[in-house]
Amino acid sequence: MVRTQLAARDVRDRRVLATMARIPRGAFVPTRLHPRAYEDGPLPIGHGQTISQPYIVGLMTQLARLSRRHRVLEVGTGCGYQTAVLAGIAAHVWTIERIDDLSRQAAARLGRLGIENVTFVTGDGALGYEPAAPYDAIVVTAAAPAPPDRLLAQLAVGARVVIPIGSREVQTLQVLERRADGVRTTESCAVRFVPLVSPSAFPD
Ligand code: SAH
Repeated sequence: MVRTQLAARDVRDRRVLATMARIPRGAFVPTRLHPRAYEDGPLPIGHGQTISQPYIVGLMTQLARLSRRHRVLEVGTGCGYQTAVLAGIAAHVWTIERIDDLSRQAAARLGRLGIENVTFVTGDGALGYEPAAPYDAIVVTAAAPAPPDRLLAQLAVGARVVIPIGSREVQTLQVLERRADGVRTTESCAVRFVPLVSPSAFPD
């Protein structure tokens, strides 16, 4: 998976490749989908949600430009796979999920894998998570019509948010870097994420 789906494309960050080679994606999908765990695409994880395509997880992590010292916020825990990848590189990850059952299952899964530098929060991630702000990076794994203001406000200067922006059906992966004099936006590729369900993104 790492060689053919990530390194052969444009995921080149050595820490991202090494971390994704270490974390068993099979541990994050329902048992009946184990044979398909390393396929080049998203898979259903229950509650109408998905585990992202491995390439997209690698790309988003690379775009976040993490270091060992970084404190990271993830919005949309889902099954916890992206969470585990972020935690494999950064100092600590706070991850918010709106569906309590998914959050609990992800926490149990990461516990079994011995990953301890993660705090699980249930709530509306479009509002960020104020108690641990500011963050060195924010990774949003659900689509929004525009970057939520509350998330941008919780970025440290020089930090970036990686977020799919667009309609409910199709989006562009964007990187917004907070600078002393404003925000600089760069665009990556076209993506399809489930909606960020929130009064300040896509209402339920
Ligand atoms: N990070 C996951 C992908 C999760 S899919 C992975 O590694 O594969 C997106 C997740 O975002 C879903 O679990 C969905 O329930 C959650 N979500 C949607 N809107 C949300 C919101 N406002 N706050 C927090 N989580 C939200």
